[in-house]
Amino acid sequence: INCIGILTSGGDAPGMNAAIRAVTRAALYEGIKVKAIYRGYKGLISGEIKEFHTEDVSNIILRGGTILKTARCQEFVTPEGRKMAYDRLVEEEIDALVVIGGDGSLSGASVFSNEFNYPVVGLPGTIDNDLYGTDITIGYTTALNTIVDAVDKIRDTASSHDRLFIVEVMGRDAGFLALNGAIATGAEAAVIPECKYGPDQLMSSISHGLRSTKNSSIILVAESEITGGAMGVANLIKDRYPDYDVRVTILGHIQRGGSPCATDRIIASQMGIEAVRAILEGQRNVMVGIMNGEVVYVPFDRAIKGNKPVGDNMLNALAILSI
Ligand code: ATP
Repeated sequence: INCIGILTSGGDAPGMNAAIRAVTRAALYEGIKVKAIYRGYKGLISGEIKEFHTEDVSNIILRGGTILKTARCQEFVTPEGRKMAYDRLVEEEIDALVVIGGDGSLSGASVFSNEFNYPVVGLPGTIDNDLYGTDITIGYTTALNTIVDAVDKIRDTASSHDRLFIVEVMGRDAGFLALNGAIATGAEAAVIPECKYGPDQLMSSISHGLRSTKNSSIILVAESEITGGAMGVANLIKDRYPDYDVRVTILGHIQRGGSPCATDRIIASQMGIEAVRAILEGQRNVMVGIMNGEVVYVPFDRAIKGNKPVGDNMLNALAILSI
């Protein structure tokens, strides 16, 4: 291996820059050239590629987003698009690729790696935490902290006005941000795709509080067709209980931005170094994860199947703590 390519793909996540820095410096440390590919698979196909030296990744560990930019690329979903990507790697003399991204990006990496028998190692870069084989993904902890900060502020208004606030958070079809955000903010309930509440269940978990000692309630809802999002949940409650003063807040993209927290910087640094090690060991078609403090290599096929459980213990915790 003489040259490693690196790209970020899909939604940006805080800590991606720390991962780019770690991959770059770990490769240079081993005497391997690094080529940075801009705008994900799109830039790979079109050839937006630049050699990186150690100073190219100076002062980026603290920055949110990704200096390599990111994109979604329909062309890469087609065999013709992937062939163009492969030809580009050959032309640029890139011998292995590190892909930092979420479920979709690693699905693409998996298809590509199998199709061309080309070494690709993935890093879990997504705020959603929905990749199996790692306790947490790069960006998740920062996003969770942002949610906690925002919901704490909403709580002030909720309790001043005796209101019920429905707060929508990101996570696509995964409930980690909503469930753990709810636990961390003392919210009354979380509506997540993994465990859908009916309006009756939902109301029984909050009406008790509103009638007796609590003067405000907050429900976190994961954005998802399955949950119906915050508007869907609010409409269900309003239909059935028109007397409630229900307000909706959609946190939106503030959840993706900001300087990465220490945990994201540290796991991104560790995973970035391990990605280079994995390539040198001859690994391919794997995602680097951290489980119980240990670095693990998880085959893409297992990482991306959407089967990472939110954990019954955390669901129970919310139920116990919100009485
Ligand atoms: P996030 O979870 O933060 O949204 P993601 O990596 O899941 O990030 P996606 O938009 O799902 O983001 O995927 C990013 C890109 O990966 C797509 O635009 C596409 O180019 C590629 N991709 C996704 N799925 C496949 C697939 N099955 N085959 C080939 N390429 C794919």
